[in-house]
Amino acid sequence: MRNKRSQDSASAVLAAFKMPRGRKVTQRISSVTAAFVQAIVPVINPTATQISGALRVLGIKASKLTCAYCGRTADQWDHLYALVMNKKPTGYITEINNLVPSCGACNQRKRGTNWKDFVNHPGKNFPKTFRDGFRKRLAALEKYARLRRQKIDFEKWEGDPAYSDYWKRHRAVIKALRAAQTTATHLRTKLLDTVPSKRRQ
Ligand SMILES: [Zn+2]
Repeated sequence: MRNKRSQDSASAVLAAFKMPRGRKVTQRISSVTAAFVQAIVPVINPTATQISGALRVLGIKASKLTCAYCGRTADQWDHLYALVMNKKPTGYITEINNLVPSCGACNQRKRGTNWKDFVNHPGKNFPKTFRDGFRKRLAALEKYARLRRQKIDFEKWEGDPAYSDYWKRHRAVIKALRAAQTTATHLRTKLLDTVPSKRRQ
């Protein structure tokens, strides 16, 4: 007979559990690609006037920096238009008009997503679920999105020797990561056999 005092069902217990991420070398491929893009994209440091201009459009105070997406406390700035999308540079650069204050959670979640899709995502803990001031933030972001921003035509650079050499290096790193993962899979199996109480995933 089932113990009536047990608080949680097996399915609730399993739903509560989440295996930590980062179990494969190849899981780093997208961040390696992002690093390769970020390392070549121009960075323009803004002046105080430019920063206050940006905050004015967003309706955010410098003394109480809040996330342009969800309204919670912000401690970083995020690219409104991602630098990398579908493993390729978008052409957008790091300049004030392409940056908005963000909380860590939104910055991490948004990544290569289009900002509008991200903001309107119906999922749990996405900006739309933070209803207080949502419409105001969305309107401010729409206004901000219309500001002028610079863009690099990377396709034009494909014939450049240094540029193509750079992406050749990128391909070599990815290839090395995949090869390392093959070794890692073998090693993990061997190592698992040495663990006294093993439970295969
Ligand atoms: Zn946020």
